[in-house]
Amino acid sequence: MLPLRKNIARMAGYVPGFQPKDENAWIKLNTNENPYPPSPRVIEAIRAELGEGLRKYPDPASRAGRAAAAELYGFDPEWLIMANGSDELLNNLIRAFAGEGEEIAYVHPSYSYYATLAEIQGARVHTFGLTDSWELTDFPARYEGKLFFLTNPNAPLGFTYPLSFIEDLAGRVAGMLVVDEAYADFADENALELVRKYENVVVTRTLSKSYSLAGMRLGLAVAHPEVIVALDKIRDHYNLDRLAQAAAVAALRDQEYFRECVGKIRETRAWFTGELRVLDYGVIPSRGNYVFATPPGRDAKRIYDALFERRILVRYFSDPVLAHGLRISIGTREEMEKTVAALAEIG
Ligand SMILES: *Cc1c(COP(=O)(O)O)cnc(C)c1O
Repeated sequence: MLPLRKNIARMAGYVPGFQPKDENAWIKLNTNENPYPPSPRVIEAIRAELGEGLRKYPDPASRAGRAAAAELYGFDPEWLIMANGSDELLNNLIRAFAGEGEEIAYVHPSYSYYATLAEIQGARVHTFGLTDSWELTDFPARYEGKLFFLTNPNAPLGFTYPLSFIEDLAGRVAGMLVVDEAYADFADENALELVRKYENVVVTRTLSKSYSLAGMRLGLAVAHPEVIVALDKIRDHYNLDRLAQAAAVAALRDQEYFRECVGKIRETRAWFTGELRVLDYGVIPSRGNYVFATPPGRDAKRIYDALFERRILVRYFSDPVLAHGLRISIGTREEMEKTVAALAEIG
């Protein structure tokens, strides 16, 4: 037997969404990837970076990326950090704020990777449930844990919490409130203004979904400079390679292309939601690039299997609170038309 730490020996490990080998043979709507390519400026920037320059280490602080994001969001660069995917930030927030045996919490259902990261750290995990009107169940007047992760918009359900509720939470969380805004670019609101007002609020973002850069691994966080200083101590000193840094700057600067893609996805989301309802699916109005849909009869696994046979990949969660529905990422209009046709045929 290996002399592993007990929590590592015990843990199961996170299982990401299925990535098929012959990607092009599928309509892939299971991991909330963007159906559109990254900005042509991103491709150019990466090409320009390829070559003998790769011999040298990248800028350890990713300053150009921080500056581009700071300008975009209206903060000074000391309020920002770039990361190798926002998953890196979630991990480092736990490492910075929750010691072994201390508690973190999140909403169930939301992004269960927080629990995996906490297990690695040896932190305890508490979950708060949701009512039918998307309120947290049994949230105390003051939550004494070290970190509370709020996924907003909620994934996989797609609804958003009102900003007033998040502000109220900021005052009730004794530790840090992390608002995971992986999908905020597809929504109408975000919590960036709360970062300025509350020292314990951190907003995390990713370029994986709204900027079509899941394969590049780029995330960022906005928080008070003292929080950023702590996160800078913990990260790998060269956490972003040269290609990723160049891609981040080019992507964040091409807002025109970004708005066009996000706009198309929002439009398709509205169309697809309507079509699902025509087929008698229950659909939660979504602010993300996915919808959570419940088939008539609630046998979501049957629909998942029937779509799978037709090479359409969506996400089914066996978790009892989610097993009645499917999370379907929003692809191109054409992909969603094919999906609607397949669902109509499956019945
Ligand atoms: C996709 C996702 C992430 C991870 O983003 P990366 O930048 O790709 O690591 C984090 N949180 C939620 C809720 C997500 O859906």
